[in-house]
Amino acid sequence: MIVAMIGKLRLTNSLTRKKEVFEPIEAPNVGMYVCGPTVYSDVHLGNVRTFLSFDVINRYLKFLGYKVRYVRNITDVGHLLDSGEDKISKKALLDQLEPMEIVQKYTNDFHEVMATFNALPPDIEPSAIGHLMEQIEMIEVLIDRGFAYVSNGSVYFDIDKYNETQEYGKLSGRKIEDLINQTRFLDGQEDKRNPLDFALWKNASPEHIMRWKTKWGEGFPGWHLECSVMSTKYLGSQFDIHGGGMDLKFPHHDCEIAQCVGVSDQMPAKYWLHTNMLTVNGQKMSKSLGNSFLPGQLISGDHELLDRGYSPMSIRFFMLQSHYASTLDFSNEALNAAVKGYTKLANGIRILKELEYPEAQLQTLNANQGAQIHKMCDDCHHAMNDDFNTALTIGHIFNLLKKVNSFHSGQIDLSEIDLETFLRMKETLLTFTEDILGIRPETNLNGENLLNILLQDYAQAKIAKDYQRVDYLRSRLKEEGITIKDMKDAVGWAYSEQ
Ligand code: AMP
Ligand code: ZN
Repeated sequence: MIVAMIGKLRLTNSLTRKKEVFEPIEAPNVGMYVCGPTVYSDVHLGNVRTFLSFDVINRYLKFLGYKVRYVRNITDVGHLLDSGEDKISKKALLDQLEPMEIVQKYTNDFHEVMATFNALPPDIEPSAIGHLMEQIEMIEVLIDRGFAYVSNGSVYFDIDKYNETQEYGKLSGRKIEDLINQTRFLDGQEDKRNPLDFALWKNASPEHIMRWKTKWGEGFPGWHLECSVMSTKYLGSQFDIHGGGMDLKFPHHDCEIAQCVGVSDQMPAKYWLHTNMLTVNGQKMSKSLGNSFLPGQLISGDHELLDRGYSPMSIRFFMLQSHYASTLDFSNEALNAAVKGYTKLANGIRILKELEYPEAQLQTLNANQGAQIHKMCDDCHHAMNDDFNTALTIGHIFNLLKKVNSFHSGQIDLSEIDLETFLRMKETLLTFTEDILGIRPETNLNGENLLNILLQDYAQAKIAKDYQRVDYLRSRLKEEGITIKDMKDAVGWAYSEQ
């Protein structure tokens, strides 16, 4: 069931460059495809920003009651470096590992990082290598329809042919003449009819280790092809949302569009969403620029640019404090502010969970108080409906938490609002904070440290001959599976038999 909507969801479509009302092709189903990582090295914090933005979008669409099928791929072959080498092959050679060992290692690490930041897994996570047959089939269709040609064991997409009826570069707004000027002097263009033609299949050089036999030659697929294949395989030839970082608009997404239109004459996605970049001192965070942190470094503080470590939820809060389509600049100051903000939010939610509506009380209803709270709840919906504006939503959550604090401290009496308003306030806060923004309580409580405090207490009670306390601590800890061990000069512990 679609939630009784408070306003309509509007999102900025990169294709039309307009904010549009979201109307799924086949409600309540929503298909969303997001370009996933190339698993040849650790994901950096910039990648995390993009995936967390789509995590919130996925969560909000699900909250609205849509039946979302969220597909995010794993690129395990085909993503080339500027030098023309496949990223995974190159890394496998460097580390003297099997390419699939590289793929498995970085896929596992990626999953761990996303779980640390409380991102929900996608509903389908297909990989390029797992869809080689489908990629080969798509190339055959493109050749049959005249949009691709074979040259020296490789297959290229024919941009001139495509442009007879279509417009290559439509999404990014690139102009063909400018693009030709940029590519004219690049090496390795001799097999192509037009320097802009991109590879659907690349002939493998003798030292290239990831290779498959086809009738065109032994080689491997081009990067753009996998996303056209996997998005349409799982979501249909036309689906609702296609997403990724801004830097993927060109060439990746424009090439995806060309391939899909070449196959079915249909634009693959109705809405294109692009996240903006995480920057460091105004520069895009990127592995190649050497200004990237690994999520683990940010958490531990182990990096020369970091003053300290930051907890995963503080980092998630930091990311959501900006709109996904704005750049977000990293700095220690901004992260310290996020730590403060997150802690305030976590404490507000903790108090909220304890707050109970009094059973019997004299009603001294204050209509104004109730109206303010209902408006603040509506504001949370409006902010998320406004192109998933998490920054604004957090502001409204804090407004509501101010009320919660006033109720908690007794500054405002709960009898001023009715039960329905109280329940709505509670549900809105919990749902928006935990389910939609995905911000969960995080505590540094360390069981062993707490146990040591109790054991010291036990030792002191023994010295003071407070046997009631001694017995109490013994039996309570026993219930938790801990047996206190009295030793000559110390107190130790052991696991109890359960
Ligand atoms: P890659 O593995 O490099 O293809 O990147 C995975 C995703 O992260 C893509 O959607 C990129 O657009 C995105 N991305 C890369 N760098 C950044 C950055 N600095 N800020 C935000 N997103 C990024
Ligand atoms: Zn892609």
